[in-house]
Amino acid sequence: MNLLTPIENIPYIGKVYQKRLKKIGIKNIKDLVYYFPHRYEDFSNVINISAIKINQFCSIKGKLLSIENTQTWKRKMVITNAIIEDKTGAFKVAWFNQPYLIKNLEPGDEVSLAGKVVIGKNGIYLSSPAYEKIREGKELTHTGKLIPVYPETQGLSSRWLRFIIKPILPQVKNSIEELLPQNLIKKYNLLPISKAIEQIHFPESKESARRAKQRFSFQNLFLIELSVLRQKMKVESMNAFPIPLKLKKLQKLTGSLSFKLTDSQKKSAWQILKDLEKTKPMNRLLEGDVGSGKTVVATIAILNVIKNKYQAAFMAPTEILAKQHFKTVWDLIKDFKLNVGLLTGKEDKFFSRKLKNDSIEISRKKLLEKVKEGEIDLLIGTHALIQDKVKFEKLALVVVDEQHRFGVKQRAKLVKGNGEKIIPHVLSMTATPIPRTLALTIYGDLDLSLIDELPKGRKKIITKVFLPEERKKAYSLIRKEVKKGRQAFVICPRIEKKENKENSTWNEVKTVEEEYKKLSEDIFKDLNVDMLHGKIATKEKERIMRRFKNKKTDILVSTSVIEVGIDIPSATIMMIEGADRFGLAQLHQFRGRVGRSRKQSYCFLLTDSPSQKTRQRLKALIDCENGFELSEKDLEIRGPGDFMGVRQWGISDLAMESLKDIHTIEKTRTEAKEILEKDPYLRNFPLLRKEVEKIEEKIHLG
Ligand code: ADP
Ligand code: MG
Repeated sequence: MNLLTPIENIPYIGKVYQKRLKKIGIKNIKDLVYYFPHRYEDFSNVINISAIKINQFCSIKGKLLSIENTQTWKRKMVITNAIIEDKTGAFKVAWFNQPYLIKNLEPGDEVSLAGKVVIGKNGIYLSSPAYEKIREGKELTHTGKLIPVYPETQGLSSRWLRFIIKPILPQVKNSIEELLPQNLIKKYNLLPISKAIEQIHFPESKESARRAKQRFSFQNLFLIELSVLRQKMKVESMNAFPIPLKLKKLQKLTGSLSFKLTDSQKKSAWQILKDLEKTKPMNRLLEGDVGSGKTVVATIAILNVIKNKYQAAFMAPTEILAKQHFKTVWDLIKDFKLNVGLLTGKEDKFFSRKLKNDSIEISRKKLLEKVKEGEIDLLIGTHALIQDKVKFEKLALVVVDEQHRFGVKQRAKLVKGNGEKIIPHVLSMTATPIPRTLALTIYGDLDLSLIDELPKGRKKIITKVFLPEERKKAYSLIRKEVKKGRQAFVICPRIEKKENKENSTWNEVKTVEEEYKKLSEDIFKDLNVDMLHGKIATKEKERIMRRFKNKKTDILVSTSVIEVGIDIPSATIMMIEGADRFGLAQLHQFRGRVGRSRKQSYCFLLTDSPSQKTRQRLKALIDCENGFELSEKDLEIRGPGDFMGVRQWGISDLAMESLKDIHTIEKTRTEAKEILEKDPYLRNFPLLRKEVEKIEEKIHLG
């Protein structure tokens, strides 16, 4: 048996379990031993029966005196009652709805039981304990120590995983090769890999579990840092068209705006323009809260590029947004004679102020020809933009809105006849405030520009929590606003049926359709109510959004599809059903859909969760209007899983955890830098290189 042995060759794993393992990506022994527990049950408190106390977690070793099933006639539940005895006394045990237990255990068996001591009608007993028979010369697996608890999905119980993993570990742990450099293991006092693998599954103590976890945290972060730094080096080894500053033209643009740029818009624009002057490709992230005015900053960069006779591209995550960006940009550059192409799903358009200021429907083929010949100055569109077929004559800048990574290879492909290692400058934009730890890790290859103020004159959005009994009040506030000619969003949690026990209340979650029905046929039957969700076809979605934008609709009931970038100034109410089900950062994003004008706006958070934690979380949203502070809080409470692009990294729960650890992040970054300076291709660390390349492949960094 070795690490590459497929699970089919492991005795005890039948067909059914093979399938279940494969479903979560476990194909061989290596995958299996890298499937880590996410926590431990502490059953290390092994005591004598005479020392038992109520409400205590403990392990007891002794002999089973009796074990039998009884049926409760009222609730039709099977209870397995047993008595265990050690040299200090006897004690009652009860399992619920596990009638099969009497097949595994019988009177006379020497057993070890671990669980919680509780008090019931007939006195105290050990409730549904973990159990195992004691066999001479065999270590305990499920009781008597720290017991690993695995993420339980696809019918894989922790008990079963322990049963499988325990005997395998000693056979393979020494063949797991160390991938971290020895000097780092020494310097940071890390557990060597084989010890760490063993201790993460079956730790001798809390301390050694902690050290095992720490080692893998270090490893994860180190790999992430290596891959982002390598990406940075790759970008820096390429060239870009240097774009000199055309100050006059840009002043003409800013002078034509109906508002004055904020200081942070100016500062960000300046940083971008400075980057563009270099022959080194820009790789910059423009970060600014919703409504902070990123589009105009991007437009300044775009205009500067075009006025230097180069081309630019602007990529949006959806068709609706691509069209919205087009309108915004087209309007902003109204004083300049330019050609703009719109490349979306089906209908492609060509707009020319060089010709006659009109929109011309043209075929995709024609449009792409114009792009290739350099006749189009700016191409705006969805993902369709980075298809193989799209080639630019002289592409100098790509602006990417709310999107993920854009690798060197992808960038190079867009430039026609690319013999000189030329790639476009890239400006990414996001409204998701990124906590410092994430900025240093998964965005560590990007330079950062920040718009940390909103345009002047915006009123603070009034945020309020409503309990179920106050729902009517919220509705009457909506009605009042609509009477004034304003509009409202009603957001419902996504419909998601999960097997998971915790989510068994899924049918209580407001579904969009139900809510729509209720509002349109009852509560607001005299108003215009519309509905939007992810399953609606794109064309129809756009029609719905257009109607809302044109104020044909008063109230739009929607799932979170509304989240990014939609700009509707007369919408003043954002009502969020089941607010406790969203992360703070996401709630903040929803809230940002309103308050986009000088009118007073409101955000209503509806929750029927009585938990203290929920209240606290929602209160944070009321107190805090700064997206950065909220994102730090959200990271603390929910972990980084919800942040833009984090999922893409496909990292384990443990690695997610480690993303909160700023000290280790800083250490691994320093070490990664040092190693790459001496050995940029990781020639001396082939194992390390292989793992880094795996990450790069996963997130298309190449
Ligand atoms: P986001 O950063 O969310 O993409 P937008 O670029 O869509 O924000 O800008 C939001 C709105 O604010 C737009 O209607 C835009 O015209 C307006 N805006 C941008 N900058 C300013 C400013 N400095 N002063 C006033 N309004 C501005
Ligand atoms: Mg935007």
